[in-house]
Amino acid sequence: MTNQTADVVIVGGGVIGTSIAMHLAMIGSGRVVLVEQGHLASGASGLSGAMVREHYLHPTLVRMSMEARSVFHNFAEVIGGDVRFRNTGRLQLFPEHDEPAVSANVAMNRDLGVNIEMLTPSEATRVVPQLDVSGIAVCGYEPDAGYADPVATTYAYADRARTLGAEIITQTPVNELIVSGGRITAVETADGRIETDTVVVAAGSRTNRLVGPIAEQLPITATRVQMAHFFRPPALESMSTIVIDRSTGAYLREDAGRGALVGAEGPGDLSEFENPDDIPRNADHEMIESLWRRASMRLPDFAAAICRGGYSAHYDMTPDGNPIIDQSTNVAGLFYAAGFSGHGFKLSPVIGRMVAELVLHGECSDHPVERFRLSRFADGDPLLAEHPYQGTSHQ
Ligand SMILES: Cc1cc2nc3c(=O)[nH]c(=O)nc-3n(C[C@H](O)[C@H](O)[C@H](O)COP(=O)(O)OP(=O)(O)OC[C@H]3O[C@@H](n4cnc5c(N)ncnc54)[C@H](O)[C@@H]3O)c2cc1C
Repeated sequence: MTNQTADVVIVGGGVIGTSIAMHLAMIGSGRVVLVEQGHLASGASGLSGAMVREHYLHPTLVRMSMEARSVFHNFAEVIGGDVRFRNTGRLQLFPEHDEPAVSANVAMNRDLGVNIEMLTPSEATRVVPQLDVSGIAVCGYEPDAGYADPVATTYAYADRARTLGAEIITQTPVNELIVSGGRITAVETADGRIETDTVVVAAGSRTNRLVGPIAEQLPITATRVQMAHFFRPPALESMSTIVIDRSTGAYLREDAGRGALVGAEGPGDLSEFENPDDIPRNADHEMIESLWRRASMRLPDFAAAICRGGYSAHYDMTPDGNPIIDQSTNVAGLFYAAGFSGHGFKLSPVIGRMVAELVLHGECSDHPVERFRLSRFADGDPLLAEHPYQGTSHQ
């Protein structure tokens, strides 16, 4: 790459950066260039559980996830490409102390149009007959939920962006954002400079490395999460529904044929790191055993699953577990879309559109993008659930 110019530069080639690039190119915002330091989906996106649901605990997030879910159901027509979305349904199991919150949240979701119902534990066993529901008081069932292939999704956004005229540059770290007279003037990459007056940083938990020195420090903490892969035993081969067990913090979804992906977000499952590069790539042996044990408690047949290893990844957590989507108040032309706190995959189609509209028009035409502003933390106005569930990292 020799030195060049662009109308908008996006830093980061995960689901968020590629969706933003595609939406900017769709709206027609001139020359759009995305720069990724590794290959596409090499950050959190490629390691994502990639589950898609609508059940959220705040009306803004419910409306956004409804729009996004509808895109995933019709991805090939709306965006193009095969992201292998599987409409499996999703069952959440709750202990007694969450029952009042579940009632309130399911009612709010249903009022907004989400296809979700509350089930008794015995009704839940009609959805997943292999379940042991001891200790479970109530369940939430979303038949329209499912999961997609996160790598294919990232490439689908990038392919569509390219078709619309955007340029996607990989294996090229952005080393510095150049500011002059209080505004962005260029992006310095390992392979030359791109002159531009608009930059969107969608670099996950590495966002502060670029924006911290020139604008402001975002409250984003790299938080380790561990996952394990298994082969399901024959008794669980027919099970496709995603199971989220709020009593143990563990969740399980089918993976690649007879595989199963098991993760956990309970208290003590996540650990914070100052530097995301220090997070090990593998899962700890004890954590894999714990995931296996928790899955087997809920699905006794899982005790015969074959473990295929585990991996670590990281969430870019913010204090309220929701992203920061904003324009810098210190540097003109600098935008952020980061801090997705472990739930950005499903929202990616709508986030891309919201950020593109923010960049081009200063606001989003329907969803309240200001609810994701950076100053909400200093203003004492975080984006929190009215009826939170206990012991979860994000809602
Ligand atoms: C294990 C796991 C399970 C998850 N499960 C789900 C789920 O089921 N459903 C859901 O909705 N969400 C889930 N998430 C969250 C979701 O995957 C993330 O919120 C989402 O992928 C974030 O995308 P991103 O593009 O913001 O970040 P990333 O994918 O991390 O992309 C940021 C990119 O920026 C690049 N970059 C960083 N610095 C620079 C630089 N200086 N120059 C150039 N490039 C740079 C990185 O290489 C990286 O590719 C999960 C996450 C994990 C880790």
